[in-house]
Amino acid sequence: MAAPFSWIRPEPHGIHVGPADCWIDPSRAVDRALVTHGHADHARGGHGQTVATPATLAIMDLRYNTREGATPVEYGETIRLPGGVDATYIPAGHVLGSAQILLEHAGERVVVTGDYKRRADPTCPPFEVTKCDIFITEATFGLPVFCHPPIAEEMRKLLDRLAAHPDACVLVGAYALGKAQRVIAELRAAGHHDPIYLHGAMERMCRLYEEHGVALGELRLVADHTKDEMRGSVVICPPSALNDRWSRRLPAPITAMASGWMRVRQRARQRNVELPLVISDHADWGELTRTIEEVDAQENWITHGREDALLRWCQLHQRRARALALVGYEDEDD
Ligand SMILES: [Zn+2]
Ligand SMILES: [Zn+2]
Repeated sequence: MAAPFSWIRPEPHGIHVGPADCWIDPSRAVDRALVTHGHADHARGGHGQTVATPATLAIMDLRYNTREGATPVEYGETIRLPGGVDATYIPAGHVLGSAQILLEHAGERVVVTGDYKRRADPTCPPFEVTKCDIFITEATFGLPVFCHPPIAEEMRKLLDRLAAHPDACVLVGAYALGKAQRVIAELRAAGHHDPIYLHGAMERMCRLYEEHGVALGELRLVADHTKDEMRGSVVICPPSALNDRWSRRLPAPITAMASGWMRVRQRARQRNVELPLVISDHADWGELTRTIEEVDAQENWITHGREDALLRWCQLHQRRARALALVGYEDEDD
């Protein structure tokens, strides 16, 4: 009989599932990939077969034009892979379509979270705690200093600033997949129903979200409107456009940025951000440690970020843990 869990192995380019000869979120093209969500550091193009939720496949298709070899799996659905491995996709609460993947083989259960958070998000179903033997967790914000404030507070800051400067606009830098749509949906939830203006690079992803049932209210393209029309409005752009000449077409933009890294003052200064909004689609320290406790796995594998502090926390709390050295994961999506 094979040694326990010898069927699943962390490799530098992803997690390999031996009997099924497939990879989870591989950082290079492979024959068969199970993909947790659409961010570029998890979802690459060029795989022979890609198994993911329908929304993740739609996002990948938008980015890479790869409909070939796509195998959709709904939340809660289990598919049988070669070698007697079952894979079940479970909501991760990170972005539209994001999933944790539960792998079962020979009576052993492993959960790979991909990226996740525990806060409510109007754009995707919440993370579900799933019992397992090995829990493979991300650790992007795996330091005790990271404690994300309630998003309603950050929305209030944004709307107060807008109200105080009716002739200006607030320009929010936000990642095109996930963060932009969450900010828009949260603004609507906070009672802001005015048109929101978009940089052209955000348009297709916002439309994809709407096609998947996420209402975003009236969205307009900056390119179609005059400076005067945009006074007193929220404008959303990719972080890279915050300080480039594109923003000259806006009326006196007050620059804001929605990111978990805005907790770090220096990062806000680097980007010339006047209004840092601490909004993250990743679990903060409290969410990471609570999740490890609730899942209560025999062993925790920590990856994708600041592994050391979380590893230490596990040791102090008598939980078995190891850090994985996967390469190629960046914070596209903080
Ligand atoms: Zn992500
Ligand atoms: Zn990630």
